[in-house]
Amino acid sequence: MLFDSHSHFNNEDLTSLERQALFSVVDTAVSEGRMSYAVDIGFDPESSKMAAEHAAVWPWCYAAVGCHPHDTKDMDDMKLALIKGLAANDKVVAIGEIGLDFHYDLSDRAVQREWFRKQIRLANELKMPIVIHAREADQEVMDILKEEGTFSEERKSWFARRPGGSWNDAGFASSAATEPDARVLLHCFSGSAELGKQYVKLGATISVAGPVTYKNNRKTVAMVEAIPLEYLLVETDSPYLAPVPHRGRRNIPLFVEFTARKVAEIKGISFEEAAKATKDNAMRFYGIR
Ligand SMILES: [Zn+2]
Repeated sequence: MLFDSHSHFNNEDLTSLERQALFSVVDTAVSEGRMSYAVDIGFDPESSKMAAEHAAVWPWCYAAVGCHPHDTKDMDDMKLALIKGLAANDKVVAIGEIGLDFHYDLSDRAVQREWFRKQIRLANELKMPIVIHAREADQEVMDILKEEGTFSEERKSWFARRPGGSWNDAGFASSAATEPDARVLLHCFSGSAELGKQYVKLGATISVAGPVTYKNNRKTVAMVEAIPLEYLLVETDSPYLAPVPHRGRRNIPLFVEFTARKVAEIKGISFEEAAKATKDNAMRFYGIR
């Protein structure tokens, strides 16, 4: 019943034995009904290839392919063509993770920008959902997304509409209305409530990870409060960012439960409701039926 919208079975620190163990743990959870799906997210051409292979093997696994800003220093047009080829696989459901990371600056900023734009253009060409990684680059990420037509009416016209409602001073009221969906996901979102609302109004979707469970993370709690449940996903970003009570240890997709429990607590709903809503939202976002 839980959907981990962002994980890394393809992480290079896992030995193949550890990876097999991880797959069998999740497979058991799926057969017992505790989990439904996970998306293995590529961060460079090699890990994207692995993600597509994993998705081909495991029925509950889907893949995203793309190059993380950290790894853009090694990108070239051949590798972009490889990512494009992988994207043609049935179970590859998004381009990502792509974006800008000005916290670590592991690739030159000009290089990060160039490949962020090129990969957005690829997603637009292929009419695919986009998974965004943004760190200490909030304004520039939003500017580039807008400039590349990510929130354009044309792009929104490619995708099914999503549940909607109206915004007023008190927040958001769900209604029978639907609204356009740009299929842009801000993964492990750490921005403010205000920025989150701006993104949602543009047609984006927000995903929260383990940090929402961390003590004193009022900013992300306030953001979850402000964002309608219709537009929220949960993720682990495993093996990183394990939620409380596993903080500091290696994260696994099953721990998405703790993030969903925190979302339930913030929203004042049951865990089952939070799990189902975030799963339905993720299925809609990735186009999984
Ligand atoms: Zn990630």
